[in-house]
Amino acid sequence: MKKTLLFSSLAFVLFYNFVFFEKSYAIFADIPFMISLGVTLFFFIALLQTIFYSKYTFKPFLIYLFITGSLSLYFMKKYGVIIDDKMVQNIFETDFSEASGLFNFEVLGYFLLLGLLPSVIIYKLKINYLTFKQNIIFKLKYIPLLLLLIVANVYLFSKAYTSFFREYKPLRYYTNPTYPLYGLGKFIKRKYFTKKLEFKKIGEDAKLLPKEGKPKLFIFVVGEAARADHFSLNGYKRDTNPTLKNDSEITSFKNFYSCGTETAVSVPCMFSVLTRKKYKDSKAKHISSLIDVLDYAGVRTLWIDNNSDSKGVATRIKNYKNIKGSCNGECRDFKMLDGLDKFVKTPKTTFIVLHQMGSHGPEYYKRYDKIYEKFKPTCKTNQLNNCTKESITNAYDNTIVATDAFLTKVKEFLKQQQNRYKVALWYVADHGESLGEKGVYLHGLPYFIAPDAQKHPASIIWFGNDFGIKNEDMKRLEDKKLSQDYIFSSILDAMDVNTSLYDEELDLFSPLL
Ligand SMILES: [Zn+2]
Repeated sequence: MKKTLLFSSLAFVLFYNFVFFEKSYAIFADIPFMISLGVTLFFFIALLQTIFYSKYTFKPFLIYLFITGSLSLYFMKKYGVIIDDKMVQNIFETDFSEASGLFNFEVLGYFLLLGLLPSVIIYKLKINYLTFKQNIIFKLKYIPLLLLLIVANVYLFSKAYTSFFREYKPLRYYTNPTYPLYGLGKFIKRKYFTKKLEFKKIGEDAKLLPKEGKPKLFIFVVGEAARADHFSLNGYKRDTNPTLKNDSEITSFKNFYSCGTETAVSVPCMFSVLTRKKYKDSKAKHISSLIDVLDYAGVRTLWIDNNSDSKGVATRIKNYKNIKGSCNGECRDFKMLDGLDKFVKTPKTTFIVLHQMGSHGPEYYKRYDKIYEKFKPTCKTNQLNNCTKESITNAYDNTIVATDAFLTKVKEFLKQQQNRYKVALWYVADHGESLGEKGVYLHGLPYFIAPDAQKHPASIIWFGNDFGIKNEDMKRLEDKKLSQDYIFSSILDAMDVNTSLYDEELDLFSPLL
């Protein structure tokens, strides 16, 4: 049994994965890393077989792997098609005439040699199965061991694996027969185990309280991957805030924490009534966001995106603009300010979100213009494993210098509007970023194991003199432990919106704090 398990795992790595190795080698061109990828894949396939090992499941499981493995290899090689959940769905839902359209002698060759032949061998093989008790012991012994071997192997090449998992995600689609198996699992989950949630409006009771004088104009900047400890405002030894450091009106929150470690979690969470502890992606996406609630209250809202999109936060409001693709090459964040003066021409209570490209990695060097290249030399590739830690940090720090200039520009814009508006600016980065500490790069680690670098983003706030909130009061909160949980109710308060969703304990501007 163990021999079958080891030989079949080896066979899969050697004979069913040349597309995967070919594509990986084209990117990494690193033989030791290719060997490591093979070894990891071997352990992983062995692990799957160990999990599925029992008298009743071992043979059917292996036969399934050989059959799908042989076909998926053919389709990958010939058409570059990947057998994912959508393909599995196609396979289940297709009819004979469609399937026969794909038939030819070459696919038959793959199927006979790599699918049917090993399947027949497995079928005929006499296996001395373990008893139930032996099987439990076998699993308890080998599952942790294989997991440990995988972790150790990944750790040895952690830089390359970071690129592999984060930057070259599509590469793993070519691992065989693991990816088709994953596709099948995903298909089953989607088809049979996903509840369809209805969108539920919340905060429809929101009302804008009447206030004396000029209307308010609030700009909320969502930063990208900007870690607090790389801002000189927060004590970083390098001068990454050449402009803001001279600004005595602003407050930099030095102890501010994020909801998630990646954009797809942090951004919806920041604008959700749910706190980090209660946050669930599926739930948050099916209830009104802060932007919706402001909209219900009659606040004029606008979301401008230079990142990916609003992650479902601003999909229901009228004024949403994605500037990506509207520039020659990548748009600079400054571009989001174009035309803003027109938008705010008629005085009305207004809330604007600017979603930055900021410090999006790994190609930090692409995020800023030459004038912000303060630290050199910089890493000029997306393969961080080819760069020194210093050059990666240099490029990253230059993105902070660019953000410093961008925030200064946003503040200047608001100052120009002060004759007609009471103005405010709040910058909160979505999450932090790892820059090679303990071999970890980028972000997105599960919250409970993520280092502080990923969970501790920068946040800066400023109020115009007649806004009704004093900058000195904010300075008192400079060192207080705060988080993105405070955004929802603080903004409601600052915008004078009254709703039952408001929670005074999570309001930065409440005198209670
Ligand atoms: Zn992000």
